[in-house]
Amino acid sequence: MSSRNYLLLTPGPLTTSRTVKEAMLFDSCTWDEDYNLDTVQAIRQQLVSLATQAEDYTSVLLQGSGSYAVEAVLGSAIGETDKVLIVSNGAYGARMIEMASLMGIAHRAYDCGEINRPDASEIDRILDEDRSITHIAMVHCETTTGMLNPIAEVAELAQRYGKIYIVDAMSSFGGIPLDVAALKIDFLISSANKCLQGVPGFAFVIARQHELEKCKGRSRSLSLDLYAQWRCMEDHQGKWRFTSPTHTVLAFAQALRELAEEGGVEARYARYRSNQRALVTGMRMLGFETLLDDTLHSPIITAFYSPQDPTWRFADFYQRLKAQGFVIYPGKVSKSDCFRIGNIGEVYPSDITGLLAAVESAMYWKK
Ligand SMILES: *Cc1c(COP(=O)(O)O)cnc(C)c1O
Repeated sequence: MSSRNYLLLTPGPLTTSRTVKEAMLFDSCTWDEDYNLDTVQAIRQQLVSLATQAEDYTSVLLQGSGSYAVEAVLGSAIGETDKVLIVSNGAYGARMIEMASLMGIAHRAYDCGEINRPDASEIDRILDEDRSITHIAMVHCETTTGMLNPIAEVAELAQRYGKIYIVDAMSSFGGIPLDVAALKIDFLISSANKCLQGVPGFAFVIARQHELEKCKGRSRSLSLDLYAQWRCMEDHQGKWRFTSPTHTVLAFAQALRELAEEGGVEARYARYRSNQRALVTGMRMLGFETLLDDTLHSPIITAFYSPQDPTWRFADFYQRLKAQGFVIYPGKVSKSDCFRIGNIGEVYPSDITGLLAAVESAMYWKK
């Protein structure tokens, strides 16, 4: 395999730097201080600092992909007599509904459709009407479409009605500035392999400590017990309950150093935005249309309508781009025929220029 493999224009796993990959060339001991104190505890502390300067937050790392942490939060934070309102406008909101159903968690779904922005006045109405709701869960950037959901508007409602607020910021944390304390978020979920540009293997939760403490003994699962995982990390200074993804953790520590070198979340956000703007401008010049209006868009991933041509096949287009070193993503929207291009990871505007040239030469249906 060549040292420079193709560029992943996908929302995780994504293209990581050579130095992040090289950080994995070391076998750590899971009970040694170098690993637990210097690496795991430092990561936990840095994650909280990225999320807020407020004092009452803590973080928990959890083995698995992002969905494992979403399931751990839903299964640990929502008690037997509680009920969660799940706001959904895509595959990841729908996944939370599926998790709640499977775990027997009382829930109400507000599904506004994949291409619509959740309506705060409708959420207000539901909260007013159904007083048994205790928690609100929603996705920040819905990766299905690239839509940025109104987490600040819903934060106000969560506060006004006194609800526990859970945000799946999987594909946005580290790439879009936010402050969990200002947004009154009780549980924020993200993972190593998205905007923080690490490799896959674990997810994490940034939680308001006194809410996390209430999760003791509530989990519906042994390995996805958020409280037990946190307790172990607190009591044993960074020790994971079960086998720790040691190499992934070393890569992540390096990825956090590189985020700081880049200039932090603001600088990364600026780069992603430049990537996304260059992508959309260039694709429009080639005749493609975006699924969403610009005002609804995140700088993370963009969905484009498939060309209306009888010879168009996503698989053919995909292979032609891959042969030129770019991997894109199929669509996930159920009602429209789309494909998606991500621009997070070790991706720069010059890569987007290269991609646009590749797209132009891959437009076989125009020839
Ligand atoms: C990536 C992602 C997840 C988690 O997906 P995994 O495949 O389990 O990593 C959850 N929510 C959102 C919004 C995502 O983008």
